[in-house]
Amino acid sequence: MSADTVLVIGAGPFGLSTSAHLHALGVAHRIVGRPMDTWRAHMAPGTKLRSEPYGSDLAAPRGRYDVKAYSSLHGLDYVDRLGPLSIERFLDYTDWYISELVPDVEDLTVTDVAAVDGGFRVSFADAPSTTAGQVVVATGVLPYAVTPGELTGLPSDLVSHTSEHHDLTRFAGRRIAVIGSGQSALETAALLHEAGGHPQVVMRKPAINWLRPNPERISRLGHIKRPVNKLCEGWHCAVWNSPPAFRRLPEEMRILKARTTLGPAGGWWLKHRVDGVVEVLTNHRLRGAEPHGTGVRLLLDGARTELDVDHVMAGTGFRIDIARLPFLPEALRARIATLQGYPVVSRAGQSSVPGLYFAGAPAAVSLGPSVRFIAGTHTSVRQLSRSLRRRARAARSATAAHSAEDSLQSA
Ligand SMILES: Cc1cc2nc3c(=O)[nH]c(=O)nc-3n(C[C@H](O)[C@H](O)[C@H](O)COP(=O)(O)OP(=O)(O)OC[C@H]3O[C@@H](n4cnc5c(N)ncnc54)[C@H](O)[C@@H]3O)c2cc1C
Repeated sequence: MSADTVLVIGAGPFGLSTSAHLHALGVAHRIVGRPMDTWRAHMAPGTKLRSEPYGSDLAAPRGRYDVKAYSSLHGLDYVDRLGPLSIERFLDYTDWYISELVPDVEDLTVTDVAAVDGGFRVSFADAPSTTAGQVVVATGVLPYAVTPGELTGLPSDLVSHTSEHHDLTRFAGRRIAVIGSGQSALETAALLHEAGGHPQVVMRKPAINWLRPNPERISRLGHIKRPVNKLCEGWHCAVWNSPPAFRRLPEEMRILKARTTLGPAGGWWLKHRVDGVVEVLTNHRLRGAEPHGTGVRLLLDGARTELDVDHVMAGTGFRIDIARLPFLPEALRARIATLQGYPVVSRAGQSSVPGLYFAGAPAAVSLGPSVRFIAGTHTSVRQLSRSLRRRARAARSATAAHSAEDSLQSA
């Protein structure tokens, strides 16, 4: 790989969409990562997408590579609104997207990215290292999983994060406390119950914030009152889904909105699987936790002060902080301008280190909440890919000029 080439790290929606765009632009690159691993190995079968079906497709450079096109090609039922889309259908769709547009993903794990003259040296756990003029970090949110400090002293077989699980059947017959009030906590609790487990949700809030379904149909006039984009519906959504508009907001507001927009809530279609089915302890704050017999005793502030369970799961989400990225050494990290742990990036996703780009959730403080979701592939990847092409071309021209100079000197 020469200095004018690109390495995309990550084969989730953002890495895959970037690679598809680079192919279409004729930019030589490699893409490494386990395809759709977050969805395949870190979510349980039966999970449903919170995003609408029309907001769950990966941006493609041209043609129709959305869930609707996939479904009609394969003779499957499809509804644009009020899905919900199952993870199984979503993964079948992304398999198709990959086979059509990104057939050359290499299942490799990056262990180190070091700055070298003219680019980066990238090391892998399972292959020889390589160099690249430009690197795109599209490694998702898993490295940023948050577990409440009150749980950190517990042995690892007693505590886990919801994102560590794929197979929930191993919790059949067991008592599990799920901490949190967002979609991950609530859906994990429902799936645990359906797998024969005995979950109890513990949350600080006084009630679950259940989302209301979007209207089933919107008239032409309705579209003016309630504009629809792939991220969400309504006028405020226009800003959250537009990086140029979002970039004009004051810094404080960008930090707040990057984190909280479309924040913790339960999908409307989940309500009947939780309300009256799973015990939910609202108004309970976790004070501490200690091993107790073969399980855990949770110490709570609330109507209940103790809760004995076999296992506790943190459904407490993710908090971006690039200091937690395992493959970015301190020497390189120190050169990346950050805001509250987020890398500050240009409209194209480029950080303060030339040639080092971030795609997906870490770019949210610069590009807005859309990049926390699949919808954000539509608002960011085109600009990112074009910027990579410009830099690759500039590097090629510089190399050509140097070799011409060298041959003149030696003539
Ligand atoms: C439980 C849950 C439910 C969600 N539901 C929705 C939803 O309904 N709709 C929605 O729009 N969004 C949803 N999201 C957000 C979702 O994470 C993003 O929309 C999307 O997956 C982000 O894509 P990504 O490419 O940034 O990261 P990911 O999908 O997380 O992909 C990361 C990629 O990076 C690779 N990788 C990581 N580390 C390395 C390394 N060191 N070397 C090489 N490769 C590496 C992984 O193998 C993987 O291929 C959900 C998230 C969670 C956790």
